[in-house]
Amino acid sequence: MPELQKVATHELTSEDVQVQVLDRENVMQTYARQPIEIVRGEGMHVFDDQGKKYLDFTSGIAVCGLGHCHPALVAAATDQLHQLWHISNLYLTAPQAELAARLTSISDMDQVFFSNSGAEANEAAIKLSRRYSKQKYGAHKGEILTFMHSFHGRTLATITATAQPKYQEGFGPLPGGFRYIEEPTIQSVKSAVTEKTSAIMIEPIQGEGGVRPFSTEFLHELRDFCTRMGFLLIFDEVQTGAGRTGTWLAWQRLSVKPDIVTMAKSLAGGLPMGATLATEEVAQAFTPGAHGSTFGGNPVAARAALALIDVVMAPGFLEHVRRREQQLYGELVKLAATRSDIVDVRGLGLMWGIQLKTARAGEVVNRCRDVGLLVLTAGADTIRLLPPLIVTSKEIELAISLLQEALG
Ligand SMILES: *Cc1c(COP(=O)(O)O)cnc(C)c1O
Repeated sequence: MPELQKVATHELTSEDVQVQVLDRENVMQTYARQPIEIVRGEGMHVFDDQGKKYLDFTSGIAVCGLGHCHPALVAAATDQLHQLWHISNLYLTAPQAELAARLTSISDMDQVFFSNSGAEANEAAIKLSRRYSKQKYGAHKGEILTFMHSFHGRTLATITATAQPKYQEGFGPLPGGFRYIEEPTIQSVKSAVTEKTSAIMIEPIQGEGGVRPFSTEFLHELRDFCTRMGFLLIFDEVQTGAGRTGTWLAWQRLSVKPDIVTMAKSLAGGLPMGATLATEEVAQAFTPGAHGSTFGGNPVAARAALALIDVVMAPGFLEHVRRREQQLYGELVKLAATRSDIVDVRGLGLMWGIQLKTARAGEVVNRCRDVGLLVLTAGADTIRLLPPLIVTSKEIELAISLLQEALG
């Protein structure tokens, strides 16, 4: 068994060791976990089993968008827990129908399919786009194009859609029908297209792949190209959605409307939920029996999502996100100006990547944790900040000073 990792500022107790041993011996070791045990979350903070407080600039990887245990979400989910946990999609439930109406309206889409995760939301988008284009243009259609550095999930189809070899290694044979676009240029898109192409799938800002925004100009060109060619444009907004980029969906800020948009992560504020939204014309390709999910649109998650939407869409909230964006971006630019080890600062809304000269993002993440700040990596050389959308100016200032300390 590997040596248990020790945290400098946190004495390892026998109880900690026990949890680490239980994890190591019984959980498949697919995660490089931080060696701290989180027991409680409140707003922008989480606490470990020693009572140590951390400022959480990960939001559970963009999931707890309104912070931890937001009172309105706790109240909605608790109320639903006392009424009905689950009944399957064989029956109607009001929370799901009401959420569908609210979600399609604020997303400027016509219909939604509910699932439980980002990978499933993308899987549904892949299936929907194939069925739609086969019906419209013939059985030869079905190919999906995706971009280098993308991340679309961990199922077989979505790791194939993910144009990064490290996620695919050892899992072949992979499903067919995916091709990769090398560069964010229309020339490069054209050279990937074949007569089978149905759709182009893109994260408007790549998350896991290094916090890489595409230029608005390119996204507009891509939209026009798809329209001209009869290809569906799919936006994977699993990470950028639900207010993260300062509008409900990133496309609303970029003014480039896709035909299908996928959401998950923060949609239900911390409970599992995925959503695949589409225009009416595309959505009709899903007929009874075409697709399904046992848990999808579960009433507890649906109530939490309705409560989250109430908060995020309340007057002034997204303006607050954009004000905090300006502050955080300004602070990061200032920080980068004083340091030769920061080569780039990229992002939108409250999703930022700090690219370092060397591949030491993991080390900086560990040092941030030691000084009480949780942050993420996005590749070996990029630190990723995903603060909760409720973040205040005081906590942004604190995070920047802790980050500075951790960078050394
Ligand atoms: C996280 C993520 C996914 C996968 O979501 P899961 O819920 O882990 O399946 C897909 N696409 C993007 C852009 C993501 O950030």
